[in-house]
Amino acid sequence: MAADIEVLLRGPKAYGLARRAMEAMEAHNVWPTPLNFELWLHYVADADTPLGKAIAGTVDKGEAFTDGLGEALAAQHLPSAKLNGELLTAGDALSKELDTVSRAIESARESSEAYGEQLATASQSLGSSTPPAVKAMVDSLTSATQRVQRENQALEDRLADTTAEVTRLRKHLEAVRREAMTDGLTNLANRKAFDEALDRALQAADVSGEPLTLAVLDIDHFKVFNDTWGHQTGDQVIRYVAGVIARSGAEPRTAARYGGEEFALILPGEDVSAALAILESVREEVGSRMLKRRSTNQDLGMVTVSVGLAERLPGEPQGSLIERADAALYASKRSGRNRTTRAEMISAAA
Ligand code: C2E
Repeated sequence: MAADIEVLLRGPKAYGLARRAMEAMEAHNVWPTPLNFELWLHYVADADTPLGKAIAGTVDKGEAFTDGLGEALAAQHLPSAKLNGELLTAGDALSKELDTVSRAIESARESSEAYGEQLATASQSLGSSTPPAVKAMVDSLTSATQRVQRENQALEDRLADTTAEVTRLRKHLEAVRREAMTDGLTNLANRKAFDEALDRALQAADVSGEPLTLAVLDIDHFKVFNDTWGHQTGDQVIRYVAGVIARSGAEPRTAARYGGEEFALILPGEDVSAALAILESVREEVGSRMLKRRSTNQDLGMVTVSVGLAERLPGEPQGSLIERADAALYASKRSGRNRTTRAEMISAAA
C-alpha cells in the first residue's frame, strides 16, 4: 500500500517530509513539477512500497528520472491517475452496453408495433359472425400490445436520458485524458502521448507502406542556461523552442516534449530528405531570435538546438527507431551542436 500522503502532509512531519522530497529531487536532477513532487513524497515517506522501490531502482541504476518515467509511474501507482484510466475504460464499456440495450429495446418496440398493426388488421377483418369470445380475445391482445408499446417507449426515453448523461461524463473524462496527455509547460504532447502516437503512426505506415521519419531535438547548453538565468527563464526557453516546433507539427505530425529539454517530431509520410528540410528550417528559426529575460529585459542570447533524424527501416520496431534518432542527435551534439544529423550518416561512418 502507498503511504497516505494527504494525511502525512497534514501531520507533524509534513515540512520535514516535503523538504526531504525536494532535496532528493534536487540531488537526482529531477524537475520539481507537481507530479514529480507527489511521486518523490511517496518515495521519501516509504521507500518499501512498490512505487518507492521503482524510484529507488531508477536512482540506484543512475538512470535519469524523465517526465515519461514519472508519468508511467503515476499511471501505475498513484490512485488518481490510475482511476482516470479505469473510469474511461468503464465509461467506454458502459456506452457500448447502453448502445446494445438501446438497440434491443428499439427492435422490441418495432416488433410489438408490427404485431399491434397485424392485430388491428385482424380485428377489423372480423365479421359479425365471429364468436364474441374470439373478438374479446383479440381486443384484450390489442390492449396488452399497446401497453407493451407504451412501456417500451418509456424505457427508450429513460435510456436516451441515461445515454446523454454517459455521453456528458465521457466528454468530461476525455478532457481529463487530453490533459493527462499534454505537457503542462508547453502544451505539446507529453511522453505518454508521444509513445502512443508513434505506435499508431508505425502501424499506419505498415499498412500504407509510406515512409515515416522521427526527429529528436535537444536544446544546446540548456543546463548552463538554466544555471545562469534560473529555472523560470529556463522554462521560457523551453516554451520558446516548443512554439517553433509546434508550428511545424500540425496533423498528421505529432510534436512532443520528450523529456526536460528534449523534443520529438513524428513525421508520417516524410522520407528523411523531406524531414531534413523541415527540421533545418525549425533549427534555423530557433536560432534566429535574440531572446530577452522578461523580468529585466536583459539579452539572453540565442538559443540553438541539435537534431537527430531517423527514417524508419522496413518493419523496424519503435525502440530501435528511437535509438537511432537519439544516436543521430548525440552525433549532432558531439560534432559541435546547432546541426541536424541523419542516422544513416552515422551508420555509414561506423
Ligand atoms: P508567451 O509569453 O505566452 O507568448 C506567446 C506568444 O505571444 C509568442 O509565441 C508570440 O507569438 C507572442 N508574443 C508574446 N510576447 C511578445 C512580444 O513581446 N513580441 C512579439 N512580437 N510577440 C510576442 P512564441 O514567440 O512562439 O513564444 C512562445 C513562448 O516562448 C512565450 O510564451 C514565452 O514563454 C517564450 N518566449 C519567447 N520569446 C521569449 C523571450 O524573448 N524571452 C522570454 N523570457 N521568453 C520568451
